[in-house]
Amino acid sequence: RKWWSSLRNGLSRVSRAPAGYRAIHRRYDVIVVGGGHAGTEAAAAAARVGAETLLVTQKIDTIGALSCNPSLGGVGKGQLVREVDALDGLCGRAGDRAGIHFSVLNRSKGPAVWGPRAQLDRQRYRDFIQAELLATPRLEVMEGSVEELLVEEERPGRHRVTGIRLAGHAPPLEASSVILTTGTFLSGFLFLGQTSSPGGRIGDPPSSSGLSRTLKETLGLQVGRLRTGTPPRILKDSVDLTLATLHPPDQHPTPFSFLNTHTHCKPEEQLPCYLVRTTPGVDRVVMESLDDNSHIQEDTKGPRYCPSIESRVLRFPGRSHQVWLEPEGMTSNLLYPQGLSMTMPPDMQLRLLRQIPALHRVEISTPGYGVQYDYVCPTQLCPSLQVKTTQGLFLAGQINGTTGYEEAAAQGLWAGVNAARSALAAPLLALSRTESYIGVLIDDLVTRGVTEPYRMFTSRAEFRTLLRPDNADLRLTLKGFEEVGCVSAQRYNEAVRVKEGLEEAFSTLGSLSRSPRDWIVSFSRATELLQYNDITYDDLAAALPESLAPFLEFSQRLKIEAVYRPHCELQKKEIQRIEREEGMYLSPDLDYLSLPVSLSNEVREILDRVRPTTLGAATRLPGMTPAAIVHLLNFVTRAH
Ligand code: FAD
Repeated sequence: RKWWSSLRNGLSRVSRAPAGYRAIHRRYDVIVVGGGHAGTEAAAAAARVGAETLLVTQKIDTIGALSCNPSLGGVGKGQLVREVDALDGLCGRAGDRAGIHFSVLNRSKGPAVWGPRAQLDRQRYRDFIQAELLATPRLEVMEGSVEELLVEEERPGRHRVTGIRLAGHAPPLEASSVILTTGTFLSGFLFLGQTSSPGGRIGDPPSSSGLSRTLKETLGLQVGRLRTGTPPRILKDSVDLTLATLHPPDQHPTPFSFLNTHTHCKPEEQLPCYLVRTTPGVDRVVMESLDDNSHIQEDTKGPRYCPSIESRVLRFPGRSHQVWLEPEGMTSNLLYPQGLSMTMPPDMQLRLLRQIPALHRVEISTPGYGVQYDYVCPTQLCPSLQVKTTQGLFLAGQINGTTGYEEAAAQGLWAGVNAARSALAAPLLALSRTESYIGVLIDDLVTRGVTEPYRMFTSRAEFRTLLRPDNADLRLTLKGFEEVGCVSAQRYNEAVRVKEGLEEAFSTLGSLSRSPRDWIVSFSRATELLQYNDITYDDLAAALPESLAPFLEFSQRLKIEAVYRPHCELQKKEIQRIEREEGMYLSPDLDYLSLPVSLSNEVREILDRVRPTTLGAATRLPGMTPAAIVHLLNFVTRAH
């Protein structure tokens, strides 16, 4: 049983299962492979839904590790964190516990596209996630490397997952559902200068080749290759911060979690970030380093929105680029130079950094490096994140071609929900793109696929005025409790209280139609007054304390809702149309190649390859025209 649990100190409570637990640790409802951002949310969500769950990961110590930047949230990503929190996930509360610099990005734009973001203390983040997992009922955590996925063929081309096999001589473990969240580890290769070696992340070996083999050869899944990189970490006391521009945090930190009214770090304890810029000397070193840099290959796509300094200089020669110097922890002497991801040899990395005035005497603690890895083309997944051709196999996180902790966490949570539901014989669920950014993310992945690492932006959401960070609880917490089963009663009760409070406040505002004399605007409803830029809820409450003071705790939310409500009403009509289309399911066995010849071969081939699950998903496939949809609709109606 040595393999069974090699938990490090403080993580020794491996089995916290209640009495009556299944045949001891040989069979689980759900096994999650990988303890990164997708895996931890997946495991916790599956257990919350009611499945006996096992999380297997290579190293217990790296559960919840932030492989790259020590930060959470941002524009689009912050919305995902709020939604994961609204569904009772971990990352929002972990961010509030570990945050050391909070700021809401995009403040100059409307609240719908504000991006809550925090700089994190790495160790605190990990500690919080690990403690939460250990305290989760029905969840066990185990250190081990999964060598192989066990599957049975049900009929040609269709499989069913039955469990996993670990490295070494451990007996196989059975499961009804398995979630793979192996991040950058699948056939991972690390790059530094001209050297490369197998690895998933610095200090960690790659995932076994057996796992890739099962996916490619046994299950016949289409697998592609992507790359990403990370900057060197530098010593703070070697940086001349007087030559950098100070970037203070928000004076009033905004928590990520709906359960928190304030962050763990006090406002005055927050640490600043600093801004510097690249110089022509940086471009020179990049150009000199190219022959010694084997990671920079055009045929393997890197993240377009978080590119390496090498690709930025090659794409925009002569331009000066921003570099943020971000703290890695409350007491850490390390800074993370965001914007300087690089893979050139370490001596050239040092030369490059020293071309920036504030870094002229900088010392490196760990050099930057790159990683290339396999991802599974996500059009092979259903909106539940189950592999279309393999019952019980779910994929989430970077393995699906995304980049970023938030994207991974969001998929992990949803895969965890569905893997548990599948194991417990409950119907699988999809989140629609009209109700959440998580729905947008998953729909984009499964219908459009990826050609480069995918990250979330607010511009990807058609209904972003409805999908705001402030109302994620109203959109998802109630549903999460009533329909999905992943939300605790405590969180549900709080969301119901807030919903009822907001409704009552709105109906009070709507009923106040005669303005007091000191309101500049004459006869109008209080809700309409609240839409004016310079009128706050607090102004109204001061004028009408008896009616409005009881709702002061919601003042910011009421202001945002009043501004957006008229537009949201219009959007809801469009959503109803989409829901009708989403409600029309397309059979997985449709013979798309026999669609009328008036449809282009390209469209028929895309439909045949992707096999969208609904008419709505079909409309969003690349190349689908309104005419093609009409043909498809006729075809489907006849086929029924
Ligand atoms: P990970 O967080 O990578 O977790 C995977 C987990 O699976 C690990 O715990 C691993 O030990 C475990 N595992 C793997 N194989 C097995 C196995 N066979 N058995 C058991 N356990 C296994 N994101 C950005 O947004 N911007 C960036 O610039 C950026 N740069 C990055 C640079 C580097 C070098 C790396 C490594 C990552 C970078 N990321 C970046 C990505 C970010 O770290 C990921 O998006 C995020 O961590 C993905 O979460 P995940 O859960 O999918 O995978």
